[in-house]
Amino acid sequence: MAFSLRYVADQLFSEVRFAKEQHGHLTDELLSALHCVFHQPLLHALDLVDQRNITRLTTPSGRVLHQVTGSSNQVYNCLISGDFCTCPSYTFTVLVKMESLMCKHLLAVHLAEALRESKKQDISDEDFVAYMCYDSSADDKNTKELHV
Ligand SMILES: [Zn+2]
Repeated sequence: MAFSLRYVADQLFSEVRFAKEQHGHLTDELLSALHCVFHQPLLHALDLVDQRNITRLTTPSGRVLHQVTGSSNQVYNCLISGDFCTCPSYTFTVLVKMESLMCKHLLAVHLAEALRESKKQDISDEDFVAYMCYDSSADDKNTKELHV
């Protein structure tokens, strides 16, 4: 079931991309379909996209990491290719309890990519490693510098 729901999610992300290109915005029908799959996290994710809280970080070797600034200014690292987020909700709700397909941050990343609303920043491969190994919740100051 999880596999088929993930497939539906990918189809919806494709439709989001198409709707943006064709109409410039999401249709009510598409929003309803997204809500059926993602429920409450959808609204939070759309807020994050509206506030342009998603940054796409790319390394010279082509690695991609997204950083999402959450509602409490906490920054979470997301890997869109492997569907992973460093937030506690992802660990608990997605990995442990398997209640959701993705957390609001990861959903926001997928939507921001489909809507082309991600901010972009180039980083070194060394920075990529540092971000993946660094617990952003431990140092709020560093996270703010990344979003200036
Ligand atoms: Zn998350």
